[in-house]
Amino acid sequence: MTTRSSAPVRQSSVRAHNLALVLNTVANSADPPSRAAVSAATGLTRATVSALVDDLIAGGLVTELDPPPRTGAGRPAAGLALTAAGPAGLGLEINVDYLAACVVDLTGAVRQRFTEHADQRPAGAAGALAALGRLGARARLAAEADGLVIAGVALAVPGLVSGDLVRVAPNLGWQNTDAAALLRGVPELADLPVAVDNEANLAALGELRVAGANPDFLYVSGEIGIGAGVVIDGELYRGVRGWSGEIGHVTVYPDGRPCRCGANGCLEQYAGQEALAADEPLAAAALGIALSAVVNLLDVPVIVLGGAFVPHFERLRDGIEAELRRRVLTAGLAPVTLRAASLGAEAAVRGAADAVIREVREDPAGWLRRTS
Ligand SMILES: [Zn+2]
Repeated sequence: MTTRSSAPVRQSSVRAHNLALVLNTVANSADPPSRAAVSAATGLTRATVSALVDDLIAGGLVTELDPPPRTGAGRPAAGLALTAAGPAGLGLEINVDYLAACVVDLTGAVRQRFTEHADQRPAGAAGALAALGRLGARARLAAEADGLVIAGVALAVPGLVSGDLVRVAPNLGWQNTDAAALLRGVPELADLPVAVDNEANLAALGELRVAGANPDFLYVSGEIGIGAGVVIDGELYRGVRGWSGEIGHVTVYPDGRPCRCGANGCLEQYAGQEALAADEPLAAAALGIALSAVVNLLDVPVIVLGGAFVPHFERLRDGIEAELRRRVLTAGLAPVTLRAASLGAEAAVRGAADAVIREVREDPAGWLRRTS
């Protein structure tokens, strides 16, 4: 049964869908397409495409390039492209020993990047997030001077996240920290939507979307702690409550070194940044043991080592692969591919900025509402 009152709702959701369709057709075209080419690719009429393109241009999402010089009869059509001067994502990252901020524009290009190296533990959650907010404010100011409009903030944290709340970040010593509220306490960021996510999840998404990784892999992020992001069929597997990926607390030696989490013999006590620097063969063996358990359980064909593992990758490789060959039941049938991350240490902050941009690209109607 249809009712009269549902018609406007349906119409606006059709428009929202079509705006996203046109925007992503422009984004994914190898060469800047004409309005006619967008019409052909989407199956929408020329008139509909033209009206939607006009809205996207007015909202600063799409730009019309100058037409190529006339070569024969007729007027060459102008090409459409994502604008490099419209909405941008602000990614922020806090880790035990650094703060980072990164601005990515709609085309995915990094426009600003700031990093500050310092131990974040003494400042506590409020102090560290205030410092990170100030770094973000500097990045925002620089981006705005460049003609960009920050659409939102995504924050990467090394801990378990529920909504805006960091439930526990053992290496920072945080518990039940309302990270979004503390960031918004910085006046220059107070007007922006803030999303909070686990750093390894954001790094895995960065590797998938920015670096174009295969759709099935385990991303392992090495910092002071170790986290992982599980990507299956191009989707992040977050676990039932969003807390999956805590590979740093997989037991490798049950009677081993005490861990900050309260258990003994956790992976990060052998392969976290500090342990890694002290003994690489031990770190490689511990990683191989933990990764074998994950592969046996989840059947992921590719392991990507990121963060602090990237500069050590070639020296860790043989030791990890020896354990995988020994412990993964299917290793003889299909060897596990081990590789270093493409994005290196900036994966999480890039993934965070990209997550903001992706929301704009998936819902341009929402962005147009905000800016009208
Ligand atoms: Zn632990």
